[in-house]
Amino acid sequence: MKILVINSGSSSIKFQFFDLDTEEVLCKGLLERIGQDEGIFNYTKKDEEKIVKNIPIEDHKDGLELVLEAITDNEHGVINSINEIDAVGHRIVHGGDRITDSVILNEESLKICEECSVLAPLHNPPNLMGVYALKELLDEKIPHVGVFDTAFHATMPEESFIYPLPYAMYTEHGIRRFGFHGTSHKYVAMKAAEHLGIPFEKFSGITVHLGNGSSITAVRDGKSVDTSLGYGTMCGVPMGTRAGDFDPAIILYMIEKLGLDAKDINGTIYKASGLLGLSGISSDYRDVESAAREGHGRAQIAIDVLTHSIGKYILALSANLDKIDAVVFTAGIGENSASLRKLVCNKLKVLGVKLDETENLKRGVTTVISSVDSGVRIMTVPTNEELMIALETKRLTKKSVS
Ligand code: ADP
Repeated sequence: MKILVINSGSSSIKFQFFDLDTEEVLCKGLLERIGQDEGIFNYTKKDEEKIVKNIPIEDHKDGLELVLEAITDNEHGVINSINEIDAVGHRIVHGGDRITDSVILNEESLKICEECSVLAPLHNPPNLMGVYALKELLDEKIPHVGVFDTAFHATMPEESFIYPLPYAMYTEHGIRRFGFHGTSHKYVAMKAAEHLGIPFEKFSGITVHLGNGSSITAVRDGKSVDTSLGYGTMCGVPMGTRAGDFDPAIILYMIEKLGLDAKDINGTIYKASGLLGLSGISSDYRDVESAAREGHGRAQIAIDVLTHSIGKYILALSANLDKIDAVVFTAGIGENSASLRKLVCNKLKVLGVKLDETENLKRGVTTVISSVDSGVRIMTVPTNEELMIALETKRLTKKSVS
């Protein structure tokens, strides 16, 4: 089964084309600067060098036409005709509280996605532009599936998703925790369970997704039961430029004493905080890590605050579980930084966590990094959101055929 996975942003589109019989990526690419004078089209066919073309890309439809031309190209293409595409999986950020699973994108579900744009105004509209454009370009028989960052968290109980604000904020305004990075949390939990030989529906653990954006999730019996991101994507652990948790009284201080308005505050807590705000150097963990190694005091503070917060969240989210089969580190920082994992594990001594120092140095593999006598198993699992979208697309399209 051949599945095209699309992640459509406001001025860029990422794609991967899978043969799901082998889980192989046949080709992949990235379109950037859509709508600007100088567009860029990157295309890589499996086992070949990357091709980079500078070409104006007028809009999403124009860009996706280039993608379809590339994958059917005589020389560098991977199929002969676009009708060999069995289905398309689209990343959609927000499904609100009405979309609780991946869905076939038809008139009815697309209407709900449109309505969810108020919850993710920067993401859902460009995600949907990709859907509409490809629906126009492909035969109408080819199914399109939406896979949502929020859907995995739809199983959270009320005690996890309702904020302790006046209840009307929930009932009248729909203010609640939604959670994000669900595709990644589900994928790494599934892979961890598979690695350990535990059926997914019996797997419980904590998944720790640490990238530019970060979140931590408690998974009980294969379902998300609590997570650190919330109504939006500003809470939980500190991120590249986002603060994560801090006392809302500080927002009142910013308004009343500093005279900041909503836009200024958004700029401060979304773009100028986290690793960047603390270190004053960079939002990129690698830069902060190497500066701290050279003795940069504020870089060290950024690492201390981050690792403290991650440790605290892992322990707090464990309150949702009866057992921890594994704590699973993933995404750019979680997969790659052995030193961060070690610092976080030092915060988990109360669980009897002990690392296997050699295994912890491995990168890019699914492995257990704790020692055999560790109180709790610690793992790394490389995330693969595109593959998860392809797998979800296969699951949904099989269901719709049968
Ligand atoms: P995104 O959330 O944009 O998908 P990623 O999952 O790619 O982000 O994660 C980006 C983060 O991963 C950056 O902070 C980067 O510094 C960090 N990272 C990537 N490689 C390494 C590495 N080798 N060591 C430490 N951090 C790394």
